[in-house]
Amino acid sequence: MIRIKGLNKSFGTLHVLKDVDINVDKSEVVVLIGASGSGKSTLLRCINFLEIEDSGEIEIMGRKVDPQKDNLNQIRENVGMVFQHFNLFPHKTVMENVIEAPVFVKKMPRQEATKKAMDLLNKVGLSDKADVYPSQLSGGQKQRVAIARALAMNPDIMLFDEPTSALDPELVGEVLQVMKELAREGMTMVVVTHEMGFAKEVADRVFFMDDGKIVEQGQPGDIFSNPQNSRTREFLSQVL
Ligand code: ADP
Ligand code: MG
Repeated sequence: MIRIKGLNKSFGTLHVLKDVDINVDKSEVVVLIGASGSGKSTLLRCINFLEIEDSGEIEIMGRKVDPQKDNLNQIRENVGMVFQHFNLFPHKTVMENVIEAPVFVKKMPRQEATKKAMDLLNKVGLSDKADVYPSQLSGGQKQRVAIARALAMNPDIMLFDEPTSALDPELVGEVLQVMKELAREGMTMVVVTHEMGFAKEVADRVFFMDDGKIVEQGQPGDIFSNPQNSRTREFLSQVL
């Protein structure tokens, strides 16, 4: 579903991603961990072309993407993203948030989009909140709306960038629950998170990123109980 080879990305003189290689298979859940500033968000943003790589190759669903020539909006439709700070439209209701992209980007009839949105809100446990504004929701509810909104475009891949980091601790579980359900249904997912419990339970593979490189990857059982890289060991000793 995702194949990345030799990805490099700099911001000015700051070399953030250094020859990153990644493959993610269909229905695989990959958890990406690493210290703050190691390049996790930049990597996710390159996967849906919110950032454009300086060099390297990115294939999405078997198709090599040329950021100069290809329609990046079309590719983004297949790659949903959920952010730490929800990024909902504050002046739109929950329903309007969820149908926005299907109606205005995909030109889906409003009635059809509304029906699908209701199904998705139901799935994330928020069908009773369709007509309220984001300001009337808890952080956990906002994030579940953000997930429903991303799913409304029928993505084949979902990227999550620290989806629970801005939440009060008691609200983390309800968001992780929705993500677990998605994983169980076979969604291909790349998740940046500090929730090691989630990683252990749900991840097929864990990638550890350090200073712009994936320095270790493996099954969660192996990475957590027997990390090979000294930087991985150091990081895990701080978060576990
Ligand atoms: P992480 O998500 O692992 O914390 P990021 O990918 O956000 O790391 O950032 C990696 C490095 O790139 C950091 O040093 C950060 O300050 C820098 N960086 C990220 N985005 C930008 C940007 N748009 N412009 C300049 N520097 C950036
Ligand atoms: Mg980040």
